[in-house]
Amino acid sequence: MLVLHSPQVVQEMTLRWRRDAKNAFVPTMGCLHEGHLKLVETARRFGQKTIVSIFVNPLQFGPNEDFEKYPRQLATDVEMLEAAGVDLVFAPSPKDFYPAQFRTRIQVQGLSEHLCGKTRPGHFEGVATVCLKLFEVTSADFAIFGEKDFQQLRILQTMAADLNLPLAIVPEPIVREESGLALSSRNRLLSPTDRNSAERVPLAIKAARQLAREVEDCSVGEAIAAAAKELAKGALVVDYLSVAPEETLIPEGSEKLLKDIAMPRLFIAVKAGSTRLIDNVSLRGI
Ligand code: AMP
Repeated sequence: MLVLHSPQVVQEMTLRWRRDAKNAFVPTMGCLHEGHLKLVETARRFGQKTIVSIFVNPLQFGPNEDFEKYPRQLATDVEMLEAAGVDLVFAPSPKDFYPAQFRTRIQVQGLSEHLCGKTRPGHFEGVATVCLKLFEVTSADFAIFGEKDFQQLRILQTMAADLNLPLAIVPEPIVREESGLALSSRNRLLSPTDRNSAERVPLAIKAARQLAREVEDCSVGEAIAAAAKELAKGALVVDYLSVAPEETLIPEGSEKLLKDIAMPRLFIAVKAGSTRLIDNVSLRGI
């Protein structure tokens, strides 16, 4: 397995690979867990060459967010990726990736303004910009993204379609630990008390999903109330708890019935202590 830091060197190499192989790419911010490894497994099924980037992208963090505090462990990540059968790890430095004269920003309008976009202005502009550049540098034919970051996935699918990017975006379902908590690099920042509270998030998801399954005329408000009741049992600060169609991600009013929404999905963002956690689930009728 190669570990390279220079965007130019990686681009030359992956363009060469692309002549007679498909490149499957998994972008990450490192501090890897089983969720990331599931994406790598899928990448290996899609491509003959598997490329993983490890880059904590400064462009997607706001001034008061956890860029400095974000966990980093390059050596361990590299060992995990070697064992997972990856061909190339791309781990650039911010200075090499964004030279001083870097001026471009990618904005996917509409989808970026709701849910996380509301509390994290500029976040998705940073995500779209880094991903477009990473797709170019790694000459990706396939790029694998987790549904854990559902809004990010929808934004990147839209960017790829709008800009006719020559690659396919492949979604991967959320990987959860036994408690139901979605795996996240940020979980390791949780104190034992925070973790107890955080485990209310999957219970909230379960409660809403169950109600949506059992009650034919379940409204958005009822699904949200079922989830809110679980969240209230933990020491959590709720950023948002919304139901939105997968297509637009615009939160629906509480009177609307789930059955009248095409592909309704519940979205949650909370803070447990100072750690921000997100999760989501489809509320489609079965
Ligand atoms: P991150 O390193 O947090 O930027 O995540 C890199 C990729 O891994 C993104 O596409 C995430 O959606 C995905 N990912 C992170 N956690 C999970 C999880 N628990 N299940 C599935 N995918 C995940």
